[in-house]
Amino acid sequence: MIDFQDTKTAFKLRSNADLRRALFLFSSIGNPTLVKAGSAMALWALRIQLPIKSLVKATVFKQFCGGETIEECTEVIKGMNSAGVQSILDFSIEGKESDYDFDKTTQITIDTILFGANNAGIPLAVFKPTGVGRMGLWVKLSSRQELSEAEKKEWEKVESRIERIYAASIETGIPVMMDAEESWMQDAADDLALNLMKRLNKEKVLVYNTLQMYRHDRLEYLKRILQEAEAEGFNIGVKIVRGAYMEKERLRAKQNGYPSPIQKDKAATDRDYDLAIEQCLQSPNCSLVAGTHNENSCQKLADAMVSQNMSRDGQRVYFSQLYGMSDNLSFNLALHGFNVAKYLPFGPVKDVMPYLIRRAEENTSVGGQTGRELQLIEKELKRRKSV
Ligand SMILES: Cc1cc2nc3c(=O)[nH]c(=O)nc-3n(C[C@H](O)[C@H](O)[C@H](O)COP(=O)(O)OP(=O)(O)OC[C@H]3O[C@@H](n4cnc5c(N)ncnc54)[C@H](O)[C@@H]3O)c2cc1C
Repeated sequence: MIDFQDTKTAFKLRSNADLRRALFLFSSIGNPTLVKAGSAMALWALRIQLPIKSLVKATVFKQFCGGETIEECTEVIKGMNSAGVQSILDFSIEGKESDYDFDKTTQITIDTILFGANNAGIPLAVFKPTGVGRMGLWVKLSSRQELSEAEKKEWEKVESRIERIYAASIETGIPVMMDAEESWMQDAADDLALNLMKRLNKEKVLVYNTLQMYRHDRLEYLKRILQEAEAEGFNIGVKIVRGAYMEKERLRAKQNGYPSPIQKDKAATDRDYDLAIEQCLQSPNCSLVAGTHNENSCQKLADAMVSQNMSRDGQRVYFSQLYGMSDNLSFNLALHGFNVAKYLPFGPVKDVMPYLIRRAEENTSVGGQTGRELQLIEKELKRRKSV
């Protein structure tokens, strides 16, 4: 049994000042009205170029991001690696729609892969499909509509960006994950990821797709691709998450009058999450990244690996959390020899604001993540005072 309440291990890299900053941040984030007003104000202030960048950078950015550039992340990567926790550099800009931005994101993703090749602290890389191609195009392809000639050309560019990303992956041996996004754009991303796996996941697993278990159809999909992989002799790489767009999914289904793709309740999501993990462990040709802040799911996966005599530090299984959150899981799993790699977001302050606002919004429920973070930080500050 791993002691996820061991705060000495969880916060070994954090100074008292770091912990006090985190305490202040998570307490503020616990107030939904403050988050709403603060987010709007910060976006507005950055847009009209008020000098608040250094304030954001020293507070919420410092908590959840590694830096504005890859180089700025090196200290964090080194520090975490010294405690056995690796990093997945995540260029976190969202919502861009121009070829210029897609090409830039492609190049920066390639830079993270090349950087990883020379850095022991980086086992995997990642990108978002809508970071390299227009959302509307993914949606149209997913709805199986015929593309216009112009759209066909546009799609060729998206494919060529993804080819370049995986060429860097082949060259360096660093596997690359595709994040999952909204269900209405996901079919095209799933098709593309599966085709890449058939081509590239032969000896090594270089391609990982992401499955969101808050969707009631994902367990069946996982079983189907695992069978296909076994029959055709390739490997599956999969990141299993619960899913980040629940309200948006339910709202769109309601507004458009189709059945919601989301599970009926949290218990159903939890059940499928754990069943998916079980499926992955049972299939020898499957490599898994468990992207979760759920203590129960982490404990279950660790127990299953121990009872099945699986290597804790082999390439097949990684636990993954987001930087700035759930260090009690990451650092205690690493202490017990399991592979752990945290998403380390980076990018210009104004461009990562949507990511930071999502983190803040996600953490507003005091009953959930924020409550857990606050309790752990307070416990550690108390422990430090008493020694
Ligand atoms: C490393 C990492 C990578 C990630 N990558 C992605 C990604 O590519 N795509 C993506 O969408 N998300 C991604 N996420 C976010 C993830 O999907 C979850 O939103 C987040 O981690 C919270 O889920 P949890 O497993 O940590 O824990 P928990 O707090 O136990 O679960 C919360 C989640 O349960 C589900 N849920 C809550 N209430 C209900 C309900 N009433 N009915 C049904 N389901 C419910 C929702 O998915 C909610 O986010 C990632 C997370 C991590 C840590």
